[in-house]
Amino acid sequence: MVAVCRANSDSGCRLISITPSKKGGAATISAAVGVGGRNLAADVRTIQEMLNAMPKTSGGPTPPLAVDGLIGPRTIAAIQRFQRTQLGWADGRVDPGGPTITRLNVIAGTGAAKPGLPGLADFDKGEAAKGGSNPILEAMRLTTMTISLPDAKIAVTKAIGRVEQAFSFVMLGGGGLTSDPASFEIVDRHYLFKNAGREQTLSELQFIATTFRRMKTILDNRTSVFGGPMFGRNLFEIDPFPDKTDPRIKAYVPRSSVEHDDGVTPNKIYLCRGLDGQTQDRYTHILIHEMGHFVDDEAPETEIVDHGYAFFNTLKTLPHDKRLHNADTYAIFAFENAFGKDRVVKMFPLLR
Ligand SMILES: [Zn+2]
Repeated sequence: MVAVCRANSDSGCRLISITPSKKGGAATISAAVGVGGRNLAADVRTIQEMLNAMPKTSGGPTPPLAVDGLIGPRTIAAIQRFQRTQLGWADGRVDPGGPTITRLNVIAGTGAAKPGLPGLADFDKGEAAKGGSNPILEAMRLTTMTISLPDAKIAVTKAIGRVEQAFSFVMLGGGGLTSDPASFEIVDRHYLFKNAGREQTLSELQFIATTFRRMKTILDNRTSVFGGPMFGRNLFEIDPFPDKTDPRIKAYVPRSSVEHDDGVTPNKIYLCRGLDGQTQDRYTHILIHEMGHFVDDEAPETEIVDHGYAFFNTLKTLPHDKRLHNADTYAIFAFENAFGKDRVVKMFPLLR
């Protein structure tokens, strides 16, 4: 069974496969396919077949490619389309063992990948640490994340208050004594309601508030009334696969809709060594982000996934409906609303 997780790397989260699919093994090619590749017929056929197996929403070609082993503009366009959807870039070329074939295999193995996820090539470079577990770093990681609980709780509580104010502003038709236009403007800046009608806006504000309330319920169980750590069931676990998890991944939440026989459970946030050395604010940001995945329903309509990231500045271009279901939108909105833009920019200079 493949463990499909939503993981937070420096470049944000992704669906990752902790145990690669053994279903007949991962497909391989012997030489590059596409622009500038050797384009051996057997390899081209493999890639054409793999692309055809991709769902359209994951960047698969429409109509399907002819599986003829011949490279041409259609196959190259299909490679580029898949790369743009899955990796955020497109060079029209699939290298043996490279990010594109890796991604094709991951999706073929899980059937569950979401469009728009950055691929392996999006990991920030140069941060790769040595594998294996380090008890001292792991203890520090758990402690640092636990120390972030009160800040996360402040951010989530203030987010609820802000969204409730925005709700009453829209409810009262933009007037009324208790309504505050600034509250709606702040929420709108992050979620971009713009052209949505009143009814839709109200129900979506409720969705946002509900998501934050669920986060707060979980945080309340783990923090005392004074904000400090309490003794609730531990929310965090150290990533049990330090040798397998990419060293730049920071945290992940296993999906509950798939079976896990590798020991991870969907009611934990797994902390990976990519967190080591990060600032306290980044821990808080990642905690809120992962909480978004943690509390969602995993139904297609309500799931909170990763459409864009502050780290890549891909938040800015997201349309409204994507923002509603984007973990980093929740994290950045809540963090900025509670602690101010300066601290956000310190974490993510691109958001200046
Ligand atoms: Zn994520």
